Amino acid sequence: MIEPILHLRRELHQYPELSAKEADTAGRIVRFFTPLAADSIVEGLGGHGVAVVFGGKVAGPTILLRCELDAVPIQELSQRDYRSTRAGISHSCGHDGHMAILAAVGAELAASPPERGRVVLLFQPAEETGCGAAAVLHDPRFAAIRPDFAFALHNLPGVPLGQVIVRRGAFNCASRGMTIRLSGSTAHAAQPESGRSPARAMCRLIQGLSLLPPGIAEQGETAFATVVGAELGKKAFGTAPGEAEIWCTLRSESDATMARLVRFSEQLAAEHAGEDGLTVSIACQDVFAATINSESAVQRVREVVAPETLTFAERPFRWSEDFGLITASCEGALIGIGAGEELPALHNPQYDFPEALIPPAKALFLRLIQRCLTGGGSCEAMKNKGPSLPRFPLAVWMAIALLVIDDTSQLSLPGLI
Ligand SMILES: [Zn+2]
Ligand SMILES: [Zn+2]
Repeated sequence: MIEPILHLRRELHQYPELSAKEADTAGRIVRFFTPLAADSIVEGLGGHGVAVVFGGKVAGPTILLRCELDAVPIQELSQRDYRSTRAGISHSCGHDGHMAILAAVGAELAASPPERGRVVLLFQPAEETGCGAAAVLHDPRFAAIRPDFAFALHNLPGVPLGQVIVRRGAFNCASRGMTIRLSGSTAHAAQPESGRSPARAMCRLIQGLSLLPPGIAEQGETAFATVVGAELGKKAFGTAPGEAEIWCTLRSESDATMARLVRFSEQLAAEHAGEDGLTVSIACQDVFAATINSESAVQRVREVVAPETLTFAERPFRWSEDFGLITASCEGALIGIGAGEELPALHNPQYDFPEALIPPAKALFLRLIQRCLTGGGSCEAMKNKGPSLPRFPLAVWMAIALLVIDDTSQLSLPGLI
């Protein structure tokens, strides 16, 4: 089955689509799954989302595994024969690989459906803009596939291939894009005093946003605002400006701190605008809640991953994800999985998803399915499930062990037990 999976991954890579425009990508996913006889395929979920459902013989819990359909607005720099064919768009976040992993899981489920419960493979739209998970959750058809457990993974360049990283509580940061518009009135550049220019307020505000007062974040927590751009007036040398915009990204480890950060930014903008007789308007976009991993979901990950392959992150990752909206209403966890130490960073124009990650990531998801639906899949359960062994004296067993020890070291998938 590996060949069709690799073919799908490279085809997805060649034809990337931006958030909320993933119609062709969704079509490719549906065409892949149509011959695999899933119980149902839900299309157009929250936009272009696709949910593929595999049911067991008897009723039981539902586990949802999520990947993302969208690519990013980055020009790929590569000579690979499967490089992006679309100018300025590429799968530089590895979502093509995440889709291939779920396709590989689906192929396994088609051959060997779950005994009990249901598996929902969710190909979510518009993750990069933070709109997709909310749109899927608001789709009335989501009620029929609402999960008891939900897991998603993201590949992590710079981390050894297959190394699994989890965290109890916040796994990554909340963030939101904020546009602050300052409005005054234009004037002739020879008589700027007759207008109301936002230039000085804009400068003070940019400085103020980079110096957050103590107390906004909880003890030891990270919170900050990054000014990503600004615009003042026009390139018209005879006119003093009347409008300015500041674009900044707010980021924090918890939603509570984000609420304080938003209030602080709004108050600061109103204060500086008021001092110069300007009006202010604020709009937010790309809003991401922090992804909170539940204790029991992390425990299940811990039970299916070899201890030497599992790392508990000390702090949440600074990037954001909209999977937190899905885990907010069920037992769930976002998992990081190493994509290799030499790989370029996510969103780097030279990044390319490492296909060697597909087998261990697929195995991780299959273990989680088994663990959540049947209680199996854990280290202990797997040990207890082995065939009963013939009774030999201890010395005979030791001789057998010495003979096979080299072979058995290669039997397990990298990083997974
Ligand atoms: Zn990304
Ligand atoms: Zn991503």
